[in-house]
Amino acid sequence: MVLADLGRRINSAVQDLTRSNLVDEKAFDGMIKEIGNALVEADVNVKLVANLRKSIRQTVNFKELGQGVNKKRIIQKAVFDELCRLVDSHSEPYKPKKGKTNVIMFVGLQGSGKTTTCTKLARWYNARGFKACLVCADTFRAGAFDQLKQNATKAKVPYYGSYTETDPVKVAKAGVDKFKKERFEIIIVDTSGRHRQETELFAEMVQIQEAVRPDQTIMVLDASIGQQAEAQSKAFKESADFGAIVITKTDGNAAGGGAISAVAATKTPIVFIGTGEHILDMEKFEPQRYISKLLGMGDMQGLVEHVQSLKLDQKDTMKHIAEGLFTVRDLRDQLNNIMKMGPLSKMAGMIPGLSNLMGDVGDEEGSMKLKRMMYIMDSMTTKELDSDGKVFVQQPERMTRIARGSGTSVREVEDVLTQHKMMAQMAKKMKGGMKAMQQGGMGR
Ligand code: GDP
Repeated sequence: MVLADLGRRINSAVQDLTRSNLVDEKAFDGMIKEIGNALVEADVNVKLVANLRKSIRQTVNFKELGQGVNKKRIIQKAVFDELCRLVDSHSEPYKPKKGKTNVIMFVGLQGSGKTTTCTKLARWYNARGFKACLVCADTFRAGAFDQLKQNATKAKVPYYGSYTETDPVKVAKAGVDKFKKERFEIIIVDTSGRHRQETELFAEMVQIQEAVRPDQTIMVLDASIGQQAEAQSKAFKESADFGAIVITKTDGNAAGGGAISAVAATKTPIVFIGTGEHILDMEKFEPQRYISKLLGMGDMQGLVEHVQSLKLDQKDTMKHIAEGLFTVRDLRDQLNNIMKMGPLSKMAGMIPGLSNLMGDVGDEEGSMKLKRMMYIMDSMTTKELDSDGKVFVQQPERMTRIARGSGTSVREVEDVLTQHKMMAQMAKKMKGGMKAMQQGGMGR
């Protein structure tokens, strides 16, 4: 995940402070400094970082913190809230309406992932009951129409384009008009990109905008763009005023902080992030969920949604979570499912604490770790599996037995139980929300 290292660094800065016995102002300042350095190194705009540091300092107001208050909690919350603010534009993106024509136009540089994202979005809306289609208005790049055609066919999405017409404005208009007549609800227009921002490109975008009058214009930004993100997004904003951002390639190793700075530079919300080349590799972006994941606090809701979309057998766990319960067996079932789900690095971030536990390891080593966790749980008795984990606190010798039986160490058994405890606490918190989700579908 983009920013995974950043998350780990921030997390360890906060934990170093909150774990130490003495939480004094000097240690607090040290933590803020380390968080700031980590953000700057991840390409987040320097001014934004300075603001964030100031805000954390002001919110916590260390000098005024009274005796007896939970300093650690207050500091953790301030860091979390300020990071959320960094990625939150505080503006609502356009919400397409059912039964109406919604035109969505994409802009961005060549290679940013525009065509791929257009198709992902069309599929996303199709899966949610909208009638969606694609229009290729990229007449600049040879092969652009073929690429869109290929993607659209794979995704079973109707498309429009032309091999002979060279005026992108005409193609865009013709496509949108055709699909409007056919009462499509989501018409996605893919435009051409260039390697650099060019006057010609901007003029073309404005003309297409005037011709198709989009309800929403989305800018696509590659996560690896670094410090240029601010200038680029501002330049696009000034000509083709966009109302939403999609950040692609967040599965890569880029620092990614630059792309995040675009939110503040343009006061525009990120609506989705691309997490891979496959058509399903796109996630809805929500600031709080993203930051939770970044800080290794997990994204239980995301996990539940992902698991539901895979249609795995989840009945017992879902029922348990709805009741605020989470047994060791639930943890085993979940990990079992995860192992079936493919790229481990992607899934681990969704489970509270698991990304920290796994550390910076590759998929292969990660799978091995997961397997060892499974061996541990396979060595438990039925009673232990169906328990809330307290039996191990009451009778720690059980852990020694399990370590021996599974060929692992007591330390590893403890790790599994810590993991379980964290998820059980999350389940307790999710009690109400899950019930609502079960009753009303996924609530989207
Ligand atoms: P366009 O020129 O802006 O239309 O870009 P494309 O859609 O052709 O994408 C350029 C390359 O980026 C292609 O090889 C895509 O498969 C790849 N790509 C797009 N989005 C993602 C993503 O979220 N993750 C990864 N790993 N690759 C992506």
